[in-house]
Amino acid sequence: MTDHTHDSSRRSWVASANDAATDFPLQNLPLGVFRALGSAAPWRVGVAIGTEVLDLRAAAGQGLLPGFGPGLFDGTLNALMAEPASQWRTLRHLVFELLAEGGAGGPASQLLVPQASVELRLPADIGDYTDFYASVYHATNIGSMFRPDNPLLPNYKWVPIGYHGRASSLVVSGTAVTRPWGQTTAKPEGPPSFGASRRLDYEAEMGFWVGGTNALGTTVPITDAPARLFGVSLLNDWSARDVQAWEYQPLGPFLAKNFASTVSPWVVTMDALAPFRCPAFVRPEGDPAPLDYLTSVADQSAGGLDVTIDVLIASAAMRAAGAEAYLVSRGTLADLYWTPAQMLTHHTSNGCDLHPGDLLGSGTVSGPTKESRGCLQERTWRGTEPLTLPSGETRQFLEDGDEVIMRAHASRAGFRRIGLGECRGIVLPAHA
Ligand code: MN
Repeated sequence: MTDHTHDSSRRSWVASANDAATDFPLQNLPLGVFRALGSAAPWRVGVAIGTEVLDLRAAAGQGLLPGFGPGLFDGTLNALMAEPASQWRTLRHLVFELLAEGGAGGPASQLLVPQASVELRLPADIGDYTDFYASVYHATNIGSMFRPDNPLLPNYKWVPIGYHGRASSLVVSGTAVTRPWGQTTAKPEGPPSFGASRRLDYEAEMGFWVGGTNALGTTVPITDAPARLFGVSLLNDWSARDVQAWEYQPLGPFLAKNFASTVSPWVVTMDALAPFRCPAFVRPEGDPAPLDYLTSVADQSAGGLDVTIDVLIASAAMRAAGAEAYLVSRGTLADLYWTPAQMLTHHTSNGCDLHPGDLLGSGTVSGPTKESRGCLQERTWRGTEPLTLPSGETRQFLEDGDEVIMRAHASRAGFRRIGLGECRGIVLPAHA
């Protein structure tokens, strides 16, 4: 459902928000947690607008956000995520009025801070992190490497597959990632040796932020799932493929995944994404329909998201030469086999409780084409088809000094293009 806050003709009095190329026009209004760069000031919630941040804690303190006290904007987004979804929308409407041309925003001009002068932290304290496997293209590609005759296991089209990740090693964009050590083998049957991973990879994913709480033992029906989805950030689920290949059976990913996952700092709300909803994945003839508890009319007709994710790599040599990062792949969430609501509802279907600030990863977002494969394991087909960077360097997997940059945006005729900002990380050498 769109409203006046999605009207593409509305402009902001913040000039940079009207730049056609900005990720953060008036119609976006993503939330993040910031403080003055290099300071020890308390973290506070803000909204990105063009090249600026509007300080919501200060705005609430000055009474510019009726019904929202400054305490809601202290430290993290968890308190706001705990509010009912109707409050998220009310806040969007209030902030829109403050920042719109012709609105009531005069006093807010004193509360803007240039993004260049702030640092951003993880948007929420993340209690739990779950990573799904929602791209059937990714699952089929990966499966075909391990089981050529039986790439997709029989449960895939029935169960939104996921595993419990680790919240402690989630880091904000810009944090360097140290190449992990682990057990790897030359032959599938072993024996292993212990050393630095030589098959370090990224995974281009979307992270879905949970809002609200369901008590342990209760479920979230799929019709209620939208009110439990607060917003999205980019997620890079760094993966050590050689470690993964040896350790993953029978319980799934463990140390190959939990050494670091990078999250982009701005949370684009589900309300901002309303114009970019699309139908759930159209299952080909012969695929089973999802079970009833994973089906609603609304989710089938508009539960998908048409958001594009780009992955770029800039090697150390490229950065030293001032070269542009190289576009490695471009995928879309519209290719996901499961919707965010289906993932959330399935997660709670056994009575598992989800809390404000929990993070659900989509799994690697890959599509049907080579150019849409969201990790190097697929993009270079396990290293058998190396990429050539503009510098002439080749890549099967990531090398030390490589920077992985993910960007995402949504656009549709008649609506303002919005973006998610960036999710960045540079690979540091393994510890000696
Ligand atoms: Mn993943």
